[in-house]
Amino acid sequence: MITLGIDIGSATSKCVLLRDGRDILASAIVNGGIGTEGSAEARAAVMARSGLAPEEIACTVATGYGRGLYRQADAQVSELSCHAIGAHAVFPDVRTVIDIGGQDVKVIALDERGRMKDFIMNDKCAAGTGRFLEVMANVLRLEVSQLEACAARAERPAPISNTCTVFAESEVISQLANGVPRDDLVAGICDSVARKVYGLARRLGVVPKLCMSGGVARNAGVRLALEAQLGEPILFSDKAQLFGALGAAISAYNRQGK
Ligand code: ADP
Repeated sequence: MITLGIDIGSATSKCVLLRDGRDILASAIVNGGIGTEGSAEARAAVMARSGLAPEEIACTVATGYGRGLYRQADAQVSELSCHAIGAHAVFPDVRTVIDIGGQDVKVIALDERGRMKDFIMNDKCAAGTGRFLEVMANVLRLEVSQLEACAARAERPAPISNTCTVFAESEVISQLANGVPRDDLVAGICDSVARKVYGLARRLGVVPKLCMSGGVARNAGVRLALEAQLGEPILFSDKAQLFGALGAAISAYNRQGK
């Protein structure tokens, strides 16, 4: 049976096409989330990549911030549940999922069967989210995909003392003007995200094993800084940004009662 999971976020749209609740046939990540053509583009991309016809899809589940506006779905499931399901499918032993997306951070506690037990989230402030990294990358004339290489080259990470994104942006500009190397600033920026996320995770309680989901998991600068804060390794998957869409596709399969 073929199912489709679509995760429409604030920054990106993600699609996973799944066979029998297990095998990923195709996936896509498209820039442009809620309010854009991103969801249609992501769906078109997986259909083209798989060569399947739309009528072969038994069930579609939408998740993410924009799920309520996606009319083509058979059902909507919260992103908390979908990230838990997707993370558990890839890492069956995981007990804590740290999801850092474009505009919010969620820390999700799972039980041994992979069901969500508890969660905590920050969706009130850009600090500690992908948006913070996007703003800082823009100031430094970098792409977000370049941040991890810069952080890895840093010799003396420059601490960023302001938590607020707007003030931190001014701080980065003034440090640049004072001759602080860009790589050192990037390392400080990654560390700032990690510290903010660590504060949130500590309030929930962090039970190993841990993994990250969401687009910021692709940034090793943040991942390594977070591991240092937590004192625990973080399991890495190159599918981390797709965990929500994967969870949605698995939910779609489970809804069909197979
Ligand atoms: P949402 O679900 O809210 O749309 P995502 O989980 O897709 O968000 O994460 C988006 C964030 O991921 C961006 O704000 C950016 O910081 C980060 N990101 C996206 N692509 C990359 C990349 N290639 N390398 C590093 N970080 C990335």
